[in-house]
Amino acid sequence: MTEGSAKGFVLDSSVLYYGKDLPTGLELVISPGVASELERHGMGDRLALLLATRVKILSPSKQSLARVISQSEKSGDVRRLSSTDKEVLALALDLGFELMTDDYSIQNMAALLGIPCKGLDQKGIAQVVEWVYRCTGCGRASPPDVTECSVCGSPTKARSRKIDRRKTKGSA
Ligand SMILES: [Zn+2]
Repeated sequence: MTEGSAKGFVLDSSVLYYGKDLPTGLELVISPGVASELERHGMGDRLALLLATRVKILSPSKQSLARVISQSEKSGDVRRLSSTDKEVLALALDLGFELMTDDYSIQNMAALLGIPCKGLDQKGIAQVVEWVYRCTGCGRASPPDVTECSVCGSPTKARSRKIDRRKTKGSA
């Protein structure tokens, strides 16, 4: 066992689309919804190859699915999650596996459910963007609905700023 000791990985469609390297040496599992998404996107051949070699299809338990749904209703993520998204989250709960996804909404839910989670594109998971409005003349911050600076009269402009996702929790 290596450090972190993941028993295996549940894979979301987002990490299978691009043919990137999958983790080796551990069990890899997908949900029925992921399999049909891959088929719908013309990746039946890749799916067949994965299933013949390294990947298993499993369905989540009703209990875990119910837990994912109730948690997503609490956090307001429920509308942003597809039924496949809920499946992979529930499956990770069932198996105690780490979830591998590049989908931000799933990562967010995984954090709330205490599911270890990582992406293949490992950048920026902890960050979301916030829009900040500033005067182009004097640089003064301004409310989003104000188009002209109240001090110098120059136009205001939106700038994106990366913020720590933890600070935004519960504010949506
Ligand atoms: Zn100004």
